[in-house]
Amino acid sequence: MSRKTEIALLLKALDKALKIDEKQLADEIGSIGFKCKKCARCCRAEYGDNTVFIFPFEIRRICEKTGLGREDFVIPAPSEDRDSQGNIHTFEWVLRKNGDCIFLKGGLCGIYELRPYICKTYPFYLLDGRLMISECEGIGGDITEEDSRKLASVLKERYIAEIKEAIALFEKFEGFNPSGKGICVHDSEGEHWV
Ligand code: SF4
Repeated sequence: MSRKTEIALLLKALDKALKIDEKQLADEIGSIGFKCKKCARCCRAEYGDNTVFIFPFEIRRICEKTGLGREDFVIPAPSEDRDSQGNIHTFEWVLRKNGDCIFLKGGLCGIYELRPYICKTYPFYLLDGRLMISECEGIGGDITEEDSRKLASVLKERYIAEIKEAIALFEKFEGFNPSGKGICVHDSEGEHWV
């Protein structure tokens, strides 16, 4: 599929995403139920995949507010894509882990207010506009109407951000050029060689 076609499809998806009915989404969340048990299982290694994907604007915000450098807390997402010189190319960043997420301290998130969308909305996400649920012990728990509304609003925001990031990425993407050495992350900011 050409880059132009990809962008056209993403623009259509964005249009649909902007029209998502938050009230309907909130009602759906309310009928499923959710109460965070503060177990931090989603941040820990021992309970399965705790990979956290993070957007470039979220990385910038954490850098600005904490004084950390991006290399302190993110790495390129694993990828099998290679260019003619054997350099790896990837399209996403993930939070560093020392088994558990590096921001997990004493069972609590050390960057709670700055945590990525994926953490704010766990265990929910939207796929093609439909509500999806990851494994979580909090599912089925009591949730207030207000919290359902808030969660629906952040989920919609996240979904829109995902699509906008993908559009910006495609607009900047120039293929797997071996212009550097090592690993290249292609994102909405352009190319980062690590
Ligand atoms: S950023 Fe915070 S909430 Fe997200 S996985 Fe790490 S410790 Fe958990």
